Amino acid sequence: MNVLVINSGSSSIKYQLIDMPSETVKATGLIERIGAENAKITYKKDDFKTSKELHIANHEEGLTQMNRFLMHKEFGVIADKDDIKIVGHRVVHGGQSFSKTVEITEIVKSKIQSLCTLAPLHNPPNLKGIEVAENVFSKARQVAVFDTAFLQTMPQKAYQYAIPKSFLEKEDIRAYGFHGTSHKYVSEKAQEFLDYRNQSSSKLISIHLGNGCSMTAIKDGKAIDHSMGFGPANGLIMGIRAGDIDQSVIFYLMDKLGYSAKEVNDILLKESGMLGLTGSNDLRDIQQKAEAGNKDCRLALEMNAYRIKKYIGAYAVALNGLDAIIFTAGIGENSALMRDLVCRDMDVLGLQLDQNNNKMALSEIRDISTKTSKVKILVIPTNEELEIAKQAYKIL
Ligand code: ADP
Repeated sequence: MNVLVINSGSSSIKYQLIDMPSETVKATGLIERIGAENAKITYKKDDFKTSKELHIANHEEGLTQMNRFLMHKEFGVIADKDDIKIVGHRVVHGGQSFSKTVEITEIVKSKIQSLCTLAPLHNPPNLKGIEVAENVFSKARQVAVFDTAFLQTMPQKAYQYAIPKSFLEKEDIRAYGFHGTSHKYVSEKAQEFLDYRNQSSSKLISIHLGNGCSMTAIKDGKAIDHSMGFGPANGLIMGIRAGDIDQSVIFYLMDKLGYSAKEVNDILLKESGMLGLTGSNDLRDIQQKAEAGNKDCRLALEMNAYRIKKYIGAYAVALNGLDAIIFTAGIGENSALMRDLVCRDMDVLGLQLDQNNNKMALSEIRDISTKTSKVKILVIPTNEELEIAKQAYKIL
């Protein structure tokens, strides 16, 4: 069965057509700069890749253009758009309303709409993607998969902030977390790999290191703590976001240095992290410069790894033990150096990295711990699109 996975942003749509349950990716692509004269649509099928620049006025036209590629006589993969039976949508914020994947109804849409205040940059374009897909694929069933859903199992002691409790009760201010689809996918892969499926307990920490970075403590398949919070700003040092910071800095920036709320937001979410520390947010550049002796880059890598180590320590305690840590996403999957920096001097947890394995090219799932390491160290490529397709297919 053809499942189309859509990740709709304000001016872009990422798409993937996946056959389920075989999990075969039939085609992938990206529609970017929607609304501009030089919008671009990219289409990829196996090793074949093509792209076209044209004016795409809106999201609906974007999906119509995508269909032309999907149904193309030479390199298309479907004969008719109605061959797409399910459309799975990535929705960033499900708030407290959604703890699992759901089929989209009018009620679901109005709840996603009401959650726009919590994710003003993401939920509105996600919703737009849903509405447009309902028109374009009117015979398909539409499913919403929420980034926050997997993290809804966190206990109250983990998600509540120590501010007056009316803010939670009346305004829903609490930690929600993000990247849940990725954390779910890699932790289930880890459980399979470690053969914990039939065992009563597993204690895992998943470390998603991409442009955005987050960590989740997962006990028996359920998230019990997570490093991001009310928004995607908290926790680890990221490409352009600061992560954890004493709120006094914010008041100092505003009250003493005269920055506006918007300027502070921009500083912390767009100009900080590895970019603020080194001038680049591409870890490959930073690694190269660090190797060439750049002190700022070396320090930034160490700061980044040190923050991750502290979260590993905290989560090992929250889990009361640790079976495995999982590295995933662009940096987690590809940076042997970052994994090395994180796993150094972790004797307290009995965590030992096999240096040779760590440096080997990535196959599917890899265990890069030594034979005597008490904690497994896994590298697992994430696949959020496949997870969305799996969940959409499963609930229908
Ligand atoms: P996104 O959050 O946008 O999905 P990705 O998961 O693609 O991000 O991760 C992007 C990050 O991964 C960038 O910092 C990039 O430099 C880093 N990265 C990608 N390939 C490598 C590599 N071979 N070595 C080190 N870092 C890499």
